[in-house]
Amino acid sequence: MGSTSSEFLREAMAQQRIAALNDRDLVLCDFDGTVSAEDTGLLVARELRLERFFEIEERWRRGEISSRECLRDQWRTVDPSRADFRELIANLEVNPGFEELVALTGVRGARLVILSDGLDYYIRMTLERLGLERLEYRANHAVLHEHHVELQFPCPADACDFCGNCKTLWLFELRPGFERLIYLGDGISDGCASRYCDVVFAKDLLAGICRERGQEFVPFETLEDVVPVLRDGSVLRAR
Ligand SMILES: [Mg+2]
Ligand SMILES: [Zn+2]
Repeated sequence: MGSTSSEFLREAMAQQRIAALNDRDLVLCDFDGTVSAEDTGLLVARELRLERFFEIEERWRRGEISSRECLRDQWRTVDPSRADFRELIANLEVNPGFEELVALTGVRGARLVILSDGLDYYIRMTLERLGLERLEYRANHAVLHEHHVELQFPCPADACDFCGNCKTLWLFELRPGFERLIYLGDGISDGCASRYCDVVFAKDLLAGICRERGQEFVPFETLEDVVPVLRDGSVLRAR
């Protein structure tokens, strides 16, 4: 798997010249599946055996409900007082390379912001655990009630039909003053915002979306694949 991933990387780098990270860069990074090893919602649903959660996910995939309805209804099925829930959230697995990415953006003076259609609750817990609580993020707000989680969406309801937390709205709010936008993501909720970015690191569903619309991207497996490209830049190879 590792060698396949670096082969892809070499191929992508042969096509695309990427300058090394600098202080005129805005780096926008998805959380679930990109920073975290797994999608947190699906992990919680699987480990807590929340059948309802998956049923709601299926309804969303069939286009019967919006992202907002999906997220709101799914998290309502989660009982945050359960010890196994707290245990899971306290120990979310983070992909290798994340701390290096944060360190690199700090050293180079680039701005790194996590954009997530997930919950601020588990992002905050994870960043605190890693000693990265100063890192910026924009996510949906979770209110933990005794037996369910209530979601509050940060974007106005009429701003976007598609997202809970609309990453594209955040992109337009954050980008003034930056010369280059760099995007890292893996999912459908990254599809829209990444369209406006100069450099896209993509895997899984986002890679498929980029391929379909003919947007160049750098494939990656973990953030360990991303860090060297941003640290050194990639060189256009003659071949
Ligand atoms: Mg994701
Ligand atoms: Zn949106």
